[in-house]
Order: sequence, then C-alpha cells, then structure tokens
Amino acid sequence: MNYLEYDLELSEEECELRDAAHDFALNVLRPAGVEIDRMPAAEAVAEGSPIWDVIKQASELGYTRLAGPAAIGGLELSPRAVHIVEEELSWGSVGLAGTLFLSSTVADTALATLDQEAIAEFAAPYYASSDGSMIACWAITEPDHGSDTLGMASPDLRVSGRAQLTARSDGDDYVISGQKSAWVSNGPIATHVMLNVQLDSSSGFHDCGVCLMPLDLPGVSRGPALDKHGVRSLTQGELFFDEVRVPKRWMVVDAGAYMAHMDAHLTAFNAGVSVMGLGAARAAYDATLAYTKERVQGGRPIFEHQSVRARLFRMFSLVQASRALSRSVFVHNLSKLAAGEPGALQHSIAAKVFCTNAAVEVCTLAVQLHGGNGLTKEYPLEMFLRDAMAFTVADGENALLSQIAASRL
Ligand SMILES: Cc1cc2nc3c(=O)[nH]c(=O)nc-3n(C[C@H](O)[C@H](O)[C@H](O)COP(=O)(O)OP(=O)(O)OC[C@H]3O[C@@H](n4cnc5c(N)ncnc54)[C@H](O)[C@@H]3O)c2cc1C
Repeated sequence: MNYLEYDLELSEEECELRDAAHDFALNVLRPAGVEIDRMPAAEAVAEGSPIWDVIKQASELGYTRLAGPAAIGGLELSPRAVHIVEEELSWGSVGLAGTLFLSSTVADTALATLDQEAIAEFAAPYYASSDGSMIACWAITEPDHGSDTLGMASPDLRVSGRAQLTARSDGDDYVISGQKSAWVSNGPIATHVMLNVQLDSSSGFHDCGVCLMPLDLPGVSRGPALDKHGVRSLTQGELFFDEVRVPKRWMVVDAGAYMAHMDAHLTAFNAGVSVMGLGAARAAYDATLAYTKERVQGGRPIFEHQSVRARLFRMFSLVQASRALSRSVFVHNLSKLAAGEPGALQHSIAAKVFCTNAAVEVCTLAVQLHGGNGLTKEYPLEMFLRDAMAFTVADGENALLSQIAASRL
C-alpha cells in the first residue's frame, strides 16, 4: 500500500524507523489484533494468548521504550520519530498499540519527577529490560467517577466529594483502600500501576495524589477482564485495594503538585490518542482504497464510480488533516514537556477530538464502501469501526474534553 506521507523533510533514519514499524504492524500487530478481537476477554489475558508474544517481541525491538533516555536503555527518539512509529503501530492494531504505549507510563512518570529514588525503583528496571516483563497501567477512573476525575482540568467541571479509592496517612506509609473502574487499560496484565488516589486530606478530585506501585503487594486484587464492544485487544479490568500499605516515597505527586501533573499528563496522553485515531483511520482508508479497485460491480471496479471516489477522497482528506494536526501538536507538546515546560492542553485535546471523530467517520465510510462485506468478520472493517468508537471515550469522552479545552481558549 502506498504510504501517503508528504513531509519531504523526513530523514533517512525516520523513513527506516517508519518502514520497520510498518512491517511489525503488518506482520505481527494486525494478525494478533484480529485474533484477540475474536477471543473471549478472559482468554485474551490468559496464558497462551498472543498478547504475551506481541509484548515480548515489541519490547525486544524497542517499541515499548521509544522516547526514554538512551543512558538507561531507551531509544531516545525525537517526538517526531516517536509520532511516526506510533502511527504505524496504531495502523496495525490500535488496541495493541495502546497496550504498548501504556507500558512505559510508570517508568516515564518516575523519570518526570526527577526523583533519583523513584527513577531507580521504577524507571531504571523498566528501561533495562527488553523482555516485556514490566507492564504499566494508569488507573484514575472509578465506577462512580469517570468524567469528574478528568473534569478537574477545568474550573467549571471541578467537583467535591469522596472518591471510591482513598489513601490514609499512617506514619511513613499510606494505606490505600477502595477500587478503580473496569476501564483500567492493561489492568488485567499490568505489573505496575500509576494510581490517582484521593488523599485523606482532599476535598475533591482536583487535589489528589499519584502513587507508583507494583501490583503484587498484599491486598491488591483484580476483577475479570472486561468484555467490551471495541478495542478488545486493549485489555481492561478493575483493580481492588484492601488496606494496601505503601511507603510515602511512592506517592510521587502530592496534592500541591497534582494539577500541574494532570495538566502535563493529559497533554501527553491526548496527543498520544490523536495518533491512535490517525492510525485507525489510515488503516480503514488503505484497506478501502484497495478493496474498491478489486470489487467489480456493474462490470467495472467500484473505484470507477464517481460517488465511490468522492467518498474515498473524503476519507483521504480526513487522514491527511489528522496527520497534519496530530503530528504538529504531538511534536510541539511532547518537546515542551520533555524540556520541563508546560504544553498546551487545549491543542492536544483539539487533536484527540478531531482525529478520533475523523476516525469514526472514515471507518463508517469504509464499512459502507465494503457493502455487505464490511459488516462481516471476513474483513477487519467492522473491527476498525468498533475500535475507533472506543477512542472517542478513552482518556475523556470527546464532548467533555471539548468543554475542558474550551475553558482555556
Ligand atoms: C478505550 C478506553 C480506554 C480507557 N482507559 C482507561 C484507563 O487506562 N484508565 C482509566 O482509569 N480509565 C480509562 N478509561 C475510562 C475513561 O476515562 C472514561 O470512560 C471516560 O472518562 C468517561 O467516563 P465514564 O465512562 O464514567 O462516563 P461518564 O462520566 O458517566 O459520562 C457519560 C456521559 O456524560 C457526559 N458528562 C459527564 N459529566 C459531564 C459534565 N459535567 N458535563 C457535561 N457532560 C458530562 C460525558 O461527556 C459522557 O457523554 C477508558 C475508557 C475507554 C473507552
């Protein structure tokens, strides 16, 4: 398939990274993503699931360590190179790409604290390993608290009240009790968590703490893998904490630093999800362009019908616009954050909302242009559409995120 890249400034190294990532996406992520999509949720996280081999292979190739410092084992790629690689991986399987991107969350948060102890405990072992044995997840939402946990980023969406997961101070430790929602991505397979937790002194969701911790501590348990509509290869499930004792140094973000941390985190994650929307849209576009040139109706390939080409052109335009916005926002904001400066959250949200909504439109057109075939499991189009839908809710439902961004204009 032609790669529709018009950035003539891409270096030879970036082109090589892109082509290698595309091969991995095509030969490993796409088939595994389709296979896991059709498996019962419990099997997808059980021994023998292809997910383990994908994580291992990706880790060996460095796809779980793209941006981290070379000094401790990262590839130290530029934000633009990371974007290029992430687009390809998302093209292969947006769910498995999400699994891989999330894996470094705990390590990267430790690095961002500049705290040498946190770096030694959580970042160094992650970046030193290339066997996929450390997998992170991020747990913020709770059964009764979804949008309000993210709404703290906007003054008019901030709410007070008790969370379902709290940390009580006890001498040199915190004691954590409660649960997180069934939507914790990587929850069933993670070894470590970045946990947003309400401190006993907190009054709402805007002054919580962030704790990094392993998930094999006494008192931690997990719910079943969530059986859901889209991104089934991004496995999800609840985390339960029953009087889990952690040293205070693991609370790497306290209430005073929480807002700045969340701002940076949402800026990075929303820019990241925009790439996943772009990858999903391009996957659907590529498959549809090829299909319309093969499928014969009325004596000629359907590509030759003008209204078919008009729909392909709409898809093409959305993919191109998504890449232009996503890449520029990603490069700008990830460069700022890497330099320790604040990024522009509203730009990341604009990219996330635009690219995921565009992906839904592109995937809808892709299904329609495949006719009845688009609705069958023989083709991946209906999976692409289900996956694209999921990302309009992930990391904040798009309408709510738009409200947060609008408050910053
Ligand atoms: C694919 C996927 C991956 C995810 N990954 C993770 C993860 O890794 N970790 C994690 O902790 N969570 C994760 N989530 C959860 C996700 O962050 C929440 O689903 C999302 O924030 C919405 O919360 P909710 O589902 O509770 O919906 P609700 O908050 O109940 O919202 C339902 C609807 O009401 C609207 N709404 C709610 N409050 C307001 C308001 N104040 N003003 C206007 N409208 C409002 C919303 O916009 C939405 O349309 C994931 C979800 C998905 C789908």
